[in-house]
Amino acid sequence: MRSGWPPNLVIRGYGQYYDVLTPEGVLRCVVRGSLKRERRKTDLVAVGDRVEVRRVALGEGVIEAVAPRTRALSRRARGAEDAEQVIVANLDQLVAVFAVAQPEPSLPMLDRFLVIAEAQEIPAVVCVNKIDLDDGAKRRLFDPYRRAGYRVVETSALTGAGLEELWSCLAGKLSALAGPSGVGKSSLVKAFRPDLDIRIGELSEATGRGRHTTTVTSLIQLDEQTFIADTPGIGTLGLWGVESSELDRCFPEFRPYLGACYYADCRHLAEPGCAVRAAVESGAIDAGRYASYQGLLEQLMEEERAEGWRRSRR
Ligand code: GDP
Ligand code: ZN
Repeated sequence: MRSGWPPNLVIRGYGQYYDVLTPEGVLRCVVRGSLKRERRKTDLVAVGDRVEVRRVALGEGVIEAVAPRTRALSRRARGAEDAEQVIVANLDQLVAVFAVAQPEPSLPMLDRFLVIAEAQEIPAVVCVNKIDLDDGAKRRLFDPYRRAGYRVVETSALTGAGLEELWSCLAGKLSALAGPSGVGKSSLVKAFRPDLDIRIGELSEATGRGRHTTTVTSLIQLDEQTFIADTPGIGTLGLWGVESSELDRCFPEFRPYLGACYYADCRHLAEPGCAVRAAVESGAIDAGRYASYQGLLEQLMEEERAEGWRRSRR
C-alpha cells in the first residue's frame, strides 16, 4: 500500500490475538509485552494496522512494532480518557452502500454515515446498488450528494453494471462498506471474489457466531493490495466525538457559506443573517440535506445537554 510501511497487515483481532497477513502467510500473533506497557489513548493494535512481526513458531508470531496510522475509524467517547476504540486503522475510505429499492434508501442514514466519515476525516464514496430496479427516478435522489462533491457510483451486483467503476474506486485501498442490511454489500464483494464464502457486517452477526459488534472487525482481501473491512456495527456508531459546533463543517456543501453568517457562532437554525439558510432557500443547498443537519444537530445538542458538557465557543 504505502512505501516504507512494513508489508504485514493486521486482518483480524480476537482478544489478545491478532491474525497478521505477511508475505509468508497468516501468523497468529500476540503483542510484545514491552509494547503493551506504553500508555496510549488509543488501541495499541487494531485491524488495519501495519506491523513488524517476529515469527516464533509455525504460524505464530509476536507483534514487535506498529506503524503510525494515517487515520482511523473509531468510537470516541466525549470527554473521557483513553477513549478511542479503533474499529479500523488506516482506512482509506468509507463506502456508503444503499439500494435504489428493496430496501428503500434512507437518506438520513446516509447523511449520518457521511457525517461520521467527515468528522473522522475519512474520504467517503456513495454506492447506489440495485440500479437494475430503478425506473429512472430513484437514482436522482442521490444528485444532492454529487453536488456536495461526493463520488456516487451506481452499481448492480445482479447485472454487473457499474462494477468496473466500483472496482476502480476500491483497487489498492482499504475500504469499509457501510449500509443497511439487504442493500447488497455481500453481493458486491462476492462479485469481486466469487470464491470467498462471504458474510458481511450485519449478516455475520445474524449467523450467531458469537461476534462482538463492538470489537470484531476483519479484513477481506480482494486482491494483493485491495481490502474490504467487514465492520459490523458501523450503523450503531453514533456521532460520538462530533461536537454540535462542528457539525456544519461535516456537510461539505455548507462550507462555502460558513464564514458568511451574521453571527460567528451561528448554528444555522433561526438566527438572522444566516448564509446557510439563505443558500437552502435559494436552492444552492439541498433541503433534505439541511433537514438532516437540523435533525443531527438537535440530537447532538440534546446529548451535550444531557452530559452537561461544556465547550468553549469557536
Ligand atoms: P447485504 O445485507 O447488504 O450484504 O445484502 P446481500 O448482498 O445479502 O443482498 C440482499 C439481497 O439483495 C439478496 O437477495 C441479493 O441477491 C439481492 N441483491 C444484491 N444486489 C442486487 C442488485 O444489484 N440487484 C438486485 N435486483 N438484487 C440484488
Ligand atoms: Zn448560519
